Amino acid sequence: WLCESASPDTQQRRHASPCRPLGTGGSSLPPLGQGLVHLIGNTPLIRIKSLSEQTGCEILAKAEFLNPGGSVKDRVALELVQEALAEGRLAPGGLVTEGTVGSTGVSLAMCAAAYGCRAFIAMPDDAAIEKAQMLQALGAEVQRSRPVSITHPDHFVNVARRRAEEEANAVFADQFENAANYRAHLKTGREIWEQTGGRIDAFVSGAGTGGTIAGVSCCLKQLRPEVQVYLIDPPGSGLYNKVTRGVMYAAEEAEGKRLRHPFDTITEGIGINRITSNFARAQIDEAFRGTDREAVEMAHYLLRNEGLFVGSSAAMNCVGAVKAARRLGPGHTIVTVLCDGGHRHLSKFFSPLYLEQHGLSPAASGAGLEFVG
Ligand code: PMP
Repeated sequence: WLCESASPDTQQRRHASPCRPLGTGGSSLPPLGQGLVHLIGNTPLIRIKSLSEQTGCEILAKAEFLNPGGSVKDRVALELVQEALAEGRLAPGGLVTEGTVGSTGVSLAMCAAAYGCRAFIAMPDDAAIEKAQMLQALGAEVQRSRPVSITHPDHFVNVARRRAEEEANAVFADQFENAANYRAHLKTGREIWEQTGGRIDAFVSGAGTGGTIAGVSCCLKQLRPEVQVYLIDPPGSGLYNKVTRGVMYAAEEAEGKRLRHPFDTITEGIGINRITSNFARAQIDEAFRGTDREAVEMAHYLLRNEGLFVGSSAAMNCVGAVKAARRLGPGHTIVTVLCDGGHRHLSKFFSPLYLEQHGLSPAASGAGLEFVG
């Protein structure tokens, strides 16, 4: 149930299906007739040895970069598309539209294609170029626009909503407000529960739409109310204040802050300055702030010590796991999420030039976790 890398048991479950498998004799190949979307979810829970040894806690992480579309967002995209098809809001040949920093777009383009549909993705033009390139390669229609407040008609979410309104047989996926997102992550929570055998003391995650932390927290707290749920929030995001003080910002600050967020952090996909209906469902006990420097250092720490090549939000989640370990003390089991791999962050988060431009550079040496404040 727990593996330092993918165990045969976990691999088998990733491919478990009622369909007849290829070949005979319990082959673990994907079953005939089920297709790629059946490889989504049931990701391995890996033990991060170096973080565990240094903190005295068991630090475990869901390897979401192993999803076929390369990120945790495959789960959400699949749920959004399947629910829209099941409810008759979408039919084969139709268009799925979404506003996203990129990862959900990649997953939606993949899931839409798997069901014979098309995808239109609106995204901010400061998101890593790799994601726009992947979307184009996947055949999605992509519209990039300058980052503006959600109240502005040009905000990528509003662009995607309008596009769905303009076309017949089109549906706005709406990952921020659509509860299908949260429902997808109830399953993530269930997997974590089963993979840990219920031996879990805390879950920690950042939030973008809030779907992950909402779904996982609701599932785990229902099964064991004592499980502590921590939010790790990047610079510029209002969620830390919301959890700790009940308000995001003083009213006079609000508009300026909303506009500033994308420029305050280099971690893509987490941090937000409004309460989405998905985030509103989250059951959070406490919040931590994480800095960009901590995320960058953690990403390089994981590379050096584990060979783990993960993206910025995954690195920030691991920063959160270390803060949770310090909060709880040794002997606890803490679970987090490795949202995606580092490949789609090469032009920004893993670019020495980009880091230098942002006054950041990864430490050249040092195997400790001193960089996590
Ligand atoms: N990491 C990445 C790479 C993401 O794209 C997102 C979603 N924007 C998140 C983390 C945050 O997940 P959630 O939307 O479930 O809060």
